[in-house]
Amino acid sequence: MSSALIVGDGPGGLSAALYLTKNDIETTIFGQDETPMHYAMLYNYLGIPEMTGSDFQKIGRQQVTSFGANLVEASVDQAEKTDDGFTVTTNSGETYSGTYLIIATGSSRELAESLGLKRGDDGAIGATREAETDVENLFVVGRTTRPHQVQAIISAGDGASAALLILSKEKKEGKRFCDWDEVES
Ligand SMILES: Cc1cc2nc3c(=O)[nH]c(=O)nc-3n(C[C@H](O)[C@H](O)[C@H](O)COP(=O)(O)OP(=O)(O)OC[C@H]3O[C@@H](n4cnc5c(N)ncnc54)[C@H](O)[C@@H]3O)c2cc1C
Repeated sequence: MSSALIVGDGPGGLSAALYLTKNDIETTIFGQDETPMHYAMLYNYLGIPEMTGSDFQKIGRQQVTSFGANLVEASVDQAEKTDDGFTVTTNSGETYSGTYLIIATGSSRELAESLGLKRGDDGAIGATREAETDVENLFVVGRTTRPHQVQAIISAGDGASAALLILSKEKKEGKRFCDWDEVES
């Protein structure tokens, strides 16, 4: 069964985790809740009139675990491409494997570089608008790839985009997947 690893637990990583777990992809997300969101007072996240970044993170973390994501309170020291996906090793020495890897490490870009991804002149790790990289099944989202558009809603959008590409592959043989729910009549 295919599975996804997500390194980074800010809005980008959590949003990817939400879309994936909600649609039954086994997902492990790594991070120690050290995002700069804890300094933010949100007035510009559409649909949320006002909220502290800390409350946003608390709700996001609860939301992804309630759908079944495995939230590992650790930092990832190493990531490698393997024949059938990726492995990551945490600071406590545990190794996890997955078919897909999403890098959502904010301003820390070393892990992405260790996988062979390059920084542009502006410091951004290169990825398409839909978060794809030159390495198959490796995605980069949020601040890591957008150092000049550091907004929570943009990172969350990137995370959703990477997840939708994975879901398209897994559920629709490459045809576009939409995560739509409807009101009950
Ligand atoms: C003072 C301040 C106020 C702000 N106010 C606003 C605001 O009002 N509105 C707004 O939209 N944005 C605001 N922002 C910006 C907002 O915080 C960012 O846009 C957002 O956090 C980016 O999300 P991200 O997921 O891309 O990265 P991040 O939130 O940076 O998340 C990356 C996560 O990955 C973790 N990580 C890094 N490396 C590893 C690793 N190797 N292993 C495991 N985990 C790792 C980090 O600890 C972090 O938790 C503010 C920022 C600051 C500093």
